[in-house]
Amino acid sequence: MWLQVLGAAAGGGLPQWNCSCSNCLLARSSSSRVSPRSQSQLAVSGDGVSWYLINASPDLRDQLSRSSQFHPDSTHGLRHTPVAGILLTSADLDHILGLLLMREFTSVSIFATASVHKVLESNPFFSMLDRLPGQSRRQTLAHGSTVTLGCGLQATMIELPGNFPAYLDDQARSSLLRSEMTIGLVFASGAGKRVAYLPALPAITPGLLSTLESCDVILVDGTFWSDDELQRLQPGTPTATQMGHLPIDGATGSLRGFAGLAPRRRIYTHINNTNPILDPHSVEHRTVTDLGFEIACDGMEIEL
Ligand SMILES: [Zn+2]
Repeated sequence: MWLQVLGAAAGGGLPQWNCSCSNCLLARSSSSRVSPRSQSQLAVSGDGVSWYLINASPDLRDQLSRSSQFHPDSTHGLRHTPVAGILLTSADLDHILGLLLMREFTSVSIFATASVHKVLESNPFFSMLDRLPGQSRRQTLAHGSTVTLGCGLQATMIELPGNFPAYLDDQARSSLLRSEMTIGLVFASGAGKRVAYLPALPAITPGLLSTLESCDVILVDGTFWSDDELQRLQPGTPTATQMGHLPIDGATGSLRGFAGLAPRRRIYTHINNTNPILDPHSVEHRTVTDLGFEIACDGMEIEL
């Protein structure tokens, strides 16, 4: 199984266009202390040839350009892509906007829960993916279901206690299932290797821990270090928990919650630009790495 982290930042990226927090200043500077990161994007493959995108970042066009593995092979004709499909873990804007960049008349399979498909169908922007018969092939991820991907991997959906995207009003929410709005995915190879991807993790449950114990690599929500991280920078903003992101630090945070999962590789990704773990000179960075956790960056490759 091959994985490529094409983007390791949360929505907004690093640096974020309107932000002058210390990480964003360092990422814009000539210093190499804090590496810029694009918005959250993962690609997985079971054969190294055919790839599945996990979510579709607003930065997807650049992310696919950066690596030759995602470039069209001209021997297959004018229109070709190694991207066989997309699996969505939510309908959050930083996970779906990139779909609009894939409207150039190439067929693509989109795997998502019924509620996330419903959100896409309710927005006429996404009808641009259906201008030709069979252009987008929408497949449903049901609770606990496993789907076989064309690249030789199996993907199992993990239901998470998430929330609705902020842009949905009460009427839209009433026709959707909250339990289908945020999911995690476990990818399994034919050789028995397993990887969990949880870019938004609202809470750690005993059931989730038991699923993760069977995984070799866990890529997990590293959005915020602390629950009040945004509030301290900008009063009136929501807490990490209110945004559906379990913070890393704290009595119930993921650092403690996943401490018992060593020696599995535990990698923080979907990291907000305000998160102090991004700065290698910070205490928080050292705390995380001393405990054996890794911090994802753009271009990180994992083979297992
Ligand atoms: Zn910032």
